[in-house]
Amino acid sequence: MIYNGIDFDTYFKNYPDMNGYFGKYGGAYISEELKNAMKEIAEAYFTICKSSKFIGELRRIRREFQGRPTPISHLERLSAKLGNVQLYVKREDLNHTGAHKLNHCMGEALLAKYMGKKKVIAETGAGQHGVALATAAAYFGLECDIYMGAVDIKKQAPNVARMKILGANVIEVTEGLATLKEAVDAAFAAYAKEYKDSIYCIGSVLGPHPFPVMVRDFQSVVGIEAREQFLGMTGELPDAIVACVGGGSNAMGLFAGFLNDPVDIYGIEPLGRGEKLGDHAASLKYGTEGIMHGFNSIMLKDEDGEPAPVYSVASGLDYPSSGPEHAFLHDLGRVKYDVVNDEETIDAFFTLSRYEGIIPAIESSHAVAYAMKLAKTMERGSVLINLSGRGDKDMDYIIEKYGIR
Ligand SMILES: *Cc1c(COP(=O)(O)O)cnc(C)c1O
Repeated sequence: MIYNGIDFDTYFKNYPDMNGYFGKYGGAYISEELKNAMKEIAEAYFTICKSSKFIGELRRIRREFQGRPTPISHLERLSAKLGNVQLYVKREDLNHTGAHKLNHCMGEALLAKYMGKKKVIAETGAGQHGVALATAAAYFGLECDIYMGAVDIKKQAPNVARMKILGANVIEVTEGLATLKEAVDAAFAAYAKEYKDSIYCIGSVLGPHPFPVMVRDFQSVVGIEAREQFLGMTGELPDAIVACVGGGSNAMGLFAGFLNDPVDIYGIEPLGRGEKLGDHAASLKYGTEGIMHGFNSIMLKDEDGEPAPVYSVASGLDYPSSGPEHAFLHDLGRVKYDVVNDEETIDAFFTLSRYEGIIPAIESSHAVAYAMKLAKTMERGSVLINLSGRGDKDMDYIIEKYGIR
């Protein structure tokens, strides 16, 4: 399929290019020292990912440890409530540890093992990436250093405990505002010193090349499975697919299976409390081109051109940029990026729970909220939602802030 001059038959061969560019987005804007480390990871990845031994081992792990393939569920009661459109969810909430993140963490940790590394290093904000990576490290017997802001450590006590139980070292970062940004800086600084024995594991389709392509490839299992399962269940492709976008990994995973199909694709960002800078984290909708954390993409900036403070009711979505491939697909128009606010999200959270017996993560509830709105504008057809994770982690927050509706 050709869309706006791009041939999607050969898309994965051509994007990103050898230097990690999706059009003008992507690349690797990092120190010389880290450039060498990224080059080593890229060379290893592009060789190892083709070996049948690696592919076979990853498949076995996904089946025997992660619980893949995850099913697709037809939301019959919710669809009937909304009208004639049929809604379906890809159940990434049923992955071991409760979200899609393990898809790339197991891949990254397996790569570390093949490269002979002894340690995995990462930053974490809300702690979800830290927990997924600590799980993968325990599975493979790798050391695991997780850098986390002091403020986040206080806020996310259960995830800190989980990481420690899984054997990870949680390293407190006290510089600056002591949140995610400082944790990223500290983790990169540590990695620059230790890269001979360790590998950095980024938590989304972000960061310098090769991470955006590598994480997309590991996550594409979601879209590949979903396409086949949906065809098997209905005999057709969905008319539309929807996923929430923070960094963008669960979305890229689903989208990868459908880019070459006549399917409308929607990436949903958090509008939070409203359109004012600081009240949302909708970087693709309101941001401009810029470089941060080692890559060129579309980002939200403050007056000084630095990453702006962002907000979302979903801690997994509050990042001031998105992966470079999303910026590319945004400019191309192949994916439509839109927003839902906190209120619509929380409403969808309770509605999906009550009508279908599935308590979604607040992140995933953004996609559900948008699909519900979309269904009301369509006369017939089907919408497939990526349910990126389950809501167990959000219970305390929901009860405290919203009560039980
Ligand atoms: C971390 C997280 C996200 C956001 O990450 P992406 O890279 O944008 O997918 C979305 N949903 C859940 C459940 C998460 O834990």
